[in-house]
Formats: sequence, C-alpha cells, structure tokens
Amino acid sequence: MKVTRIAYSAGLNVGKYAALVEQARRLGRVRSEVWQRYGSTSGIGSGLTDRQVRDRWLAGGMHQRFGVLANAWKETVRDAMADMAASLASAKVEVRRAILRRTGNPAERKRMLTALKSDRWADDPFLARHMRKHWKRGKNRTHDQIVVRADHHRTVADGRGRLWLAVPGLERRRTVRIPLSTTVAPTGTLRLILRGGRVEVHYQVDASQMRSSQRPCGDRMVGVDKGYTEALTDSEGEHHGIRLGKLLAAESDRVKERNRRRAKLRSIANSAARRGDHAKAHRITVNNLGHVKRDRRAARHRAQVRTEIFTAVHRVVDKAATVVAEDLTKRFAGRKTFGRNLNRRLAAWTKGVTAEALANVSERRGSALVHVNAAYTSQACHRCGGFGRRSGDRLHCTSCGVVWQADVNAAINILRRAGDPDIALHTPHHRVKQILQDRNDRHRTRLPVQDSSRPSPSGERIIRTAQPRASSRKQAAS
Ligand SMILES: [Zn+2]
Repeated sequence: MKVTRIAYSAGLNVGKYAALVEQARRLGRVRSEVWQRYGSTSGIGSGLTDRQVRDRWLAGGMHQRFGVLANAWKETVRDAMADMAASLASAKVEVRRAILRRTGNPAERKRMLTALKSDRWADDPFLARHMRKHWKRGKNRTHDQIVVRADHHRTVADGRGRLWLAVPGLERRRTVRIPLSTTVAPTGTLRLILRGGRVEVHYQVDASQMRSSQRPCGDRMVGVDKGYTEALTDSEGEHHGIRLGKLLAAESDRVKERNRRRAKLRSIANSAARRGDHAKAHRITVNNLGHVKRDRRAARHRAQVRTEIFTAVHRVVDKAATVVAEDLTKRFAGRKTFGRNLNRRLAAWTKGVTAEALANVSERRGSALVHVNAAYTSQACHRCGGFGRRSGDRLHCTSCGVVWQADVNAAINILRRAGDPDIALHTPHHRVKQILQDRNDRHRTRLPVQDSSRPSPSGERIIRTAQPRASSRKQAAS
C-alpha cells in the first residue's frame, strides 16, 4: 500500500522561493505544450508514449524554448503524459459501460472492447462518439509544480539537526537548498508544490516501511464498536472521535439546504429557457449552478471526517496490540443502494472510512486487527447474556435489570466474540440468536440469582445519572 507523505519547507528565503516559482512557471509551459499537442486522439489517444515525445522534441529542438534543464522538462513531460493517460483511462471506463449496454453479442462486445483498449476507437463511429462524449479535451492548469526524479535530489543534515533538501535550479550545477521542517528525509520521486511562500514536498512511501517511524501500538486486547455520534467506542468504556456525529449532521443539513436552493434556481433557469430567454438561462447555469465550489467544499468535509476517524483509530491502537472489530467491509444484502437518503449515504461512507482506517493504522503500527461476527452484540447484555431493550444510548437488560451505556456494552460483547468457541465470523445471525438464547437459559437454570459470577472485564459500568446523548445509529442485527 502506497501512502503520500508531505514535508514542508521551514524558513525558506524569498529569493530561493522566487527562483522555484520561476522554474515551476516555465515547466507549466512545458505541461501546457504537452496537453495542447498530444492531449487528443492523435497523441495520447493513439498510444503515444512520453519517450516518443521526448525524442521528437530533442530532434526538433523544441526543448530549447523553455529555458529549463533537460531532466526537469523530461520529468514534466512524463508527468503530464501520465495525467492525460489517467483522464483517458477514466473516460474508457464509461465507454466500456456503454458497450456492455449496447450489445449482448459476445463477438461484437469483444471487438469493441479490444478496439477501445488498443486505442483504435477512432475508426468505429459508436466508440468515437462515446469517447468524444466522455473524454473532454483538457488543458493544463498546473503552473506551480516541479517533479524531481529520485536520483536528482539529496538531503543533507546540518550541524543543528536541520534537514536541507537540494534540488536542481534553472542552471546546471546550481542547486536550490530548501530547509525542511521535518527530520525524515523525503525519498523517491518528489513533487514540489509551491503554495503561499512555502514548498510542499509530496512523495510516496510504502505503508509497511513506515512502521519503524510510527508510534508503537499498545499491549492490550480491545474491542471496538462503530457508532454514528462517535467514530468508535472501546470495551474499556472510552469514546473516540466524538465530533463525528456533529460533523455529519451539520454537513447533511447544509447540503439539503443548498440543494433546495439549487433546485429553485434550476427551475428559474428552465422557465427562462422555455420563454426563449436563453441568455438568462445560460447566466444562471454558469454563475449559480456550477460545481467548483460545491466540490471543493465536499472535499474539505470529507477530509475533516477522515481526520476525525483516523485520529480515533490511532487513540485505540495507542493502547491495543489487538483490535477486535466487526468486519465493516461486509455489505448487507438489500442495503447496497441508499438512493437519495443523504444520512444513510453518509453513514455508509463513514463505515467504509472506518474500515479503511482500522486496516491501515493497524498495518502501519503493527497491531493485529481481528474481525468478528457482531450479530446481536448491541442487544445482548454482556453480564448475563440476556437480551436488553435499547432506548437512546442506553441498554436496559430485562433479565438482570441493569442499564448499560449501549456502545460500551456492544464493544465488550465484540471483544468477547474473539474468543467465542461457538460463534464464528460467518455464523448466520439467526444461529447466533439461538446460541445466545440457549446460553442464557442454561445460565438462568444454574444460577437462579444473578450475581457477579460473570463480571465484566472492565468492572461495573452502570449508568444512572449520565445525560442521554443523541442516539447512535445501529444496524438492526448487530
Ligand atoms: Zn443482564
């Protein structure tokens, strides 16, 4: 698994920054040239490679116009071609779907898919039409980046423990030395992004190699339950990622309100178009119904939620050598599409992020992640095994009469599932219910008085005075 890391410059002087900005500006012209010349059917669309472009430029003397070093423009050509290839590939995904919709004939499908894959789609009218539809001719918008190959940069530590990154400047043998705010040297191909007087150094590392540089994991075995109000609750009674519910609710309200306003504007634009006032319709579409700000906002929200969830998982791994959790990547039949219900879509998405965070952080920090069957873990009392009644964030045990904090109770049950001899990961949930009921009956006949013979590992967590929090959303079966 590759992970992008970012190092930042610290106290870079204005002259050096200006020199890097100038280099990035010139390389931006290289990018624009590549998009302009090769961003269409006859270029990247016909399988042209960056090496062929390089040879053409060297033969024609094209490279001399840009005023940058050879390695710099060559890497930039490679990078721009890779961007164009990515946009082409995503268009092909759409066209592949169109092919499958168009024909069920295996031979015809194969012919078209092969033509698409080998960039011979221009000759087929159907493929050409759909490629035109999905592959919008792009243009370069990147004028603030410098790509530096692994063998063209080095880092040097000075006497005070500060790390300096040396990258090529605009002339041969004139490197620019950038002071970094980190003590970890960036490795591999670097992407320098110049933003607001500061240099961001983006590079990729293997997640498995990062283990040594990460905090070590804890030494205990901890069960976690995924919630909606909080990202995770653990079997020791701690809540993690407590801002999650608020973040999601605020975003959901905002999006609903925004969509209501957009619908209104769209209807004004439509009625203007019907009247024949196309100028007005166009103005509204372009100025009021764009997607740049909307998408930027959505990306920011996603980043906030991810940070909240990843931080929560790190807190759990701080104390756990083994994390026991429900397998959140599993999908439930009939729950695949959430349609227009925004809250459900958000809940499904955060579930995916939580699954990713659990797997990713465990791998990086060396803790084990154990998936267990979570059926009925939020309904059974962890002390007596009886089924309780849920109300808000409490669970009333009807057998032993105790009120538990529902998520903590669930997390304790999840932890115990890891060592359960009868309930395996894929035991169907009606079987789980039967097993739990049988155990409860046995328990009752042997122990007519429920006492502390089965204490919870974390002691008594009986809630009597706590304020009820907003209810956590749960799957019905867990
Ligand atoms: Zn009970």
